[in-house]
Amino acid sequence: AKEMGKNNYQIYSASLNISSFKLYTLERDLHKAIQNEELYLDFQPRVDTATGKMVSAEALVRWEHPIWGQVSPGEFIPLAEESELILDIGDWVLEKVCSYLQKWSENKSPIVPISINVSAKRFLRNDLISKMKYVLEKTNTDPKFIELEITETTLVYNEETVSQVIQSLREMGIRIALDDFGTGFSSLTYLKNYPIDTIKIDQSFIQNINIAKSDEMIIKSIIFLAKGLDLNVVAEGVETNDQLTFLKQQECDEIQGYLFSKPVDEKRFEQLLKNKVLK
Ligand code: C2E
Ligand code: CA
Ligand code: CA
Ligand code: CA
Repeated sequence: AKEMGKNNYQIYSASLNISSFKLYTLERDLHKAIQNEELYLDFQPRVDTATGKMVSAEALVRWEHPIWGQVSPGEFIPLAEESELILDIGDWVLEKVCSYLQKWSENKSPIVPISINVSAKRFLRNDLISKMKYVLEKTNTDPKFIELEITETTLVYNEETVSQVIQSLREMGIRIALDDFGTGFSSLTYLKNYPIDTIKIDQSFIQNINIAKSDEMIIKSIIFLAKGLDLNVVAEGVETNDQLTFLKQQECDEIQGYLFSKPVDEKRFEQLLKNKVLK
């Protein structure tokens, strides 16, 4: 048993070294990722639960690192958030999404609204509104094709500031979604105080459909609440037909997840735009 313990320790420390080396290089290289054109976007469709028709899509950033290959945003976004780099990445994503929308409109391609993840730091910087206006104007983008996804983390900051930003965005015609809903704190107060359009039920609840009654109850309550407050409700991370059946029964408005489509690259997404019905 003593021997085993020792081996385990060695394996553990070796993998720790690889992951801390990786982290070190990611941190070191992140600031060059934009100028080296190593970032790109995938798009994941959101479909109408009743019809299976794509109604919008979420833009998800990826990093093609010269050594590590594709690095997931789950790894590098937290690093970026520790510095000002998250602001540059946020602006890059916004510009990229708007230039795609511009390109697709010019090609007379059918388009859908695109959702963009916005970190708390970016959302609360005082230049958000002017930046949005500038980019929308430059790319001739209709604001109704942009939705910003924020999390409850954003809402815990100064209530007055948050309200003002949300209000200004809405006046511009930009929609707001509350992402990862159910995983943060005092969600219900936020729904009452802030004029948001959409809530996205976190995938951790969806994955427990048919597994844990408590998670099913939470999903039901969120959908009930959303309907009462006249909010659009989206289920994230839907992978199975059983989950879809449950969400249909609960009249969840929209579905996002591998069951319909994984996040896809620009080329594949353009094809999906052309024939929209995914299932
Ligand atoms: P998120 O905003 O909650 O995005 C949904 C994540 O769930 C995506 O992971 C997506 O690929 C994954 N997903 C979608 N459907 C399924 C499914 O059916 N099953 C499972 N297991 N997973 C599914 P991804 O692309 O790795 O992104 C991770 C997180 O990184 C995002 O979580 C978001 O918080 C952050 N992120 C991604 N792009 C950006 C960005 O442009 N800016 C910022 N600030 N954060 C971003
Ligand atoms: Ca999101
Ligand atoms: Ca989410
Ligand atoms: Ca998440």
